[in-house]
Amino acid sequence: MLDYKALPKIELHAHLSGSISRQCLHEVWLLKKAADETDLQDPLIEMPPGKHDYDLKTFFPLFSSYIYNLVNDGPVLRYTTLSVLRDFAEDGVVYLELRTTPRAMPAVGLTEADYVRTILDTIAEFERSAEGKTLRTKLILSIDRRNNPTQARQVLALCKQFLGLGVVGIDLCGNPAVPLDPQLAPVFEDARCVPGLGMTLHFAEAECSGSDAELDMLLSWRPDRLGHVICVSERVRREIAGRKGIGLELCLSCNVHAGMVHGGFESHHFGEWWKAADAVVVLSTDDVGIFGSPLSNEYALAAQHFGLSRAHICGLIRKGLDVIFGGEEEKSRLRDILWKA
Ligand SMILES: [Zn+2]
Repeated sequence: MLDYKALPKIELHAHLSGSISRQCLHEVWLLKKAADETDLQDPLIEMPPGKHDYDLKTFFPLFSSYIYNLVNDGPVLRYTTLSVLRDFAEDGVVYLELRTTPRAMPAVGLTEADYVRTILDTIAEFERSAEGKTLRTKLILSIDRRNNPTQARQVLALCKQFLGLGVVGIDLCGNPAVPLDPQLAPVFEDARCVPGLGMTLHFAEAECSGSDAELDMLLSWRPDRLGHVICVSERVRREIAGRKGIGLELCLSCNVHAGMVHGGFESHHFGEWWKAADAVVVLSTDDVGIFGSPLSNEYALAAQHFGLSRAHICGLIRKGLDVIFGGEEEKSRLRDILWKA
């Protein structure tokens, strides 16, 4: 199997909290344990190395009852963010769009805006360092399906506040088993009217979030990109194919390990989409800390299971440039890097 680590890559669908390595969480736990600040179990026991088969039932509680309780103050947010950036840079990622749901940490006096600011400051700090020379990182703020309209409005307000300061897009994420509140629609419709703000949506991750009614509503918000695109009817599939230039963030290992697709890698819908003339497919990791497959490995898997040559892979990565939210200056920097690779 070829090693795609050295190949410059772009990653557009990565959740900050789910991208933290178990080793990094373990280091945080050791510090908290020594300071008598946590009763949580060691992350290496809670999430044993090599365990990647989290499904939709076990995945979301891992965050709400564990990871969020460990990453619960400003210094740890900075420490874990730096670790995530370092891991992507070491894997050869040259452009990264990280996403996160703004989270207040009232026990330490951190507001949602402080949370976003801390991450952006950490990104800037990393980019000034020697190890952060080639990786450029932007931030997407996510509205969780659990959010009520007021909370969703607050996320949109933060997008506007930090637009041009590192935030480039808005996302809809969260447990697909949570019914989508139609009252979130006006928030996304307003987001669509904010110049320069990209929109990506978790789309048809599971049967329960794959009804035509839900997908028609999501498509009516005119998103720039869709994540996952698993449980779609033939009609919706044609509708997506007809949206010229729409970006599809497809995640191989996450979908296979979590049992979201059946039949293993070979039957993943990447095989149908990657040659599509109008859609732009971008391979993504989703949650490398949970599913254990860095982006270089996702490309190796695509090559192995779908017969992509190195030229195909380079072509795919270059095409992905069309759907980044980072703007023209960033595109031109990336053109220099990707066309030399
Ligand atoms: Zn995701």
